[in-house]
Amino acid sequence: MMDDFESVIAGELDRWQQAGKAAQFWLRDDDAVEPTALLDRLLDISATFSVPLTLAVIPAYTGEALAERLRQEPSCSVTVHGWSHRNHAGPDEKKQELGGHRAAADVLAELKQGFDRLAGLHGERFVPMLVPPWNRIDAGLVPHLAVLGYQALSVYGPEKPAALPLINTHVDVMDWHGTRGGRDPQALAVEIAARLRHMFDNGGTMGLLTHHLVHDEAVWDFMSALFEVTARHPACRWTPVADILRGQ
Ligand SMILES: [Zn+2]
Repeated sequence: MMDDFESVIAGELDRWQQAGKAAQFWLRDDDAVEPTALLDRLLDISATFSVPLTLAVIPAYTGEALAERLRQEPSCSVTVHGWSHRNHAGPDEKKQELGGHRAAADVLAELKQGFDRLAGLHGERFVPMLVPPWNRIDAGLVPHLAVLGYQALSVYGPEKPAALPLINTHVDVMDWHGTRGGRDPQALAVEIAARLRHMFDNGGTMGLLTHHLVHDEAVWDFMSALFEVTARHPACRWTPVADILRGQ
């Protein structure tokens, strides 16, 4: 089965190689606040395969301990994951921290506080990008983010026109609505290949979304298998998010 998995992704990357092109991949992992054994596992797997990692950190609950741990990790970037990851939507709505439920000025004040806090804690590891919790943000807030210092926004799905450059994720390893474990690796491979075909004609990146605190073994196995296939393929470039931002 892993052979199929490998051939689906490598087959697509071979086409890029024959065309003299390289596909940019990037890895975003959400919800970090402190050092844990699971964070160590994530940092270890990304270091093993030289895959640069972007952590979306929840500012309200994080502190010096995470900053200290990441000082040993030169290829790990930090971005802003809302403020407290609190849901302000009603029971019948999709969860949102950054929706239209509160005054825009209050939400923006929190996003400024989150930016300043993580920039102060993480220095040059900090990338001025907002990752909205649950990948949702009220469209009316987006034009105000640049004033706060944000240079990019990262949500989930194909990029749409926005008031700020979008660096999205496109493939989510988790089965949130079913098993709440890892999704079928073959289905993930097919999705990655489809994203690569879209990128071949339209540009963009292949953003992989993970959540290290809730991975089951299937997710860790998938990540190892994917990194194994892609990291050694000449047409794949796992790219630091700061480089993607500079290239926008
Ligand atoms: Zn989150």
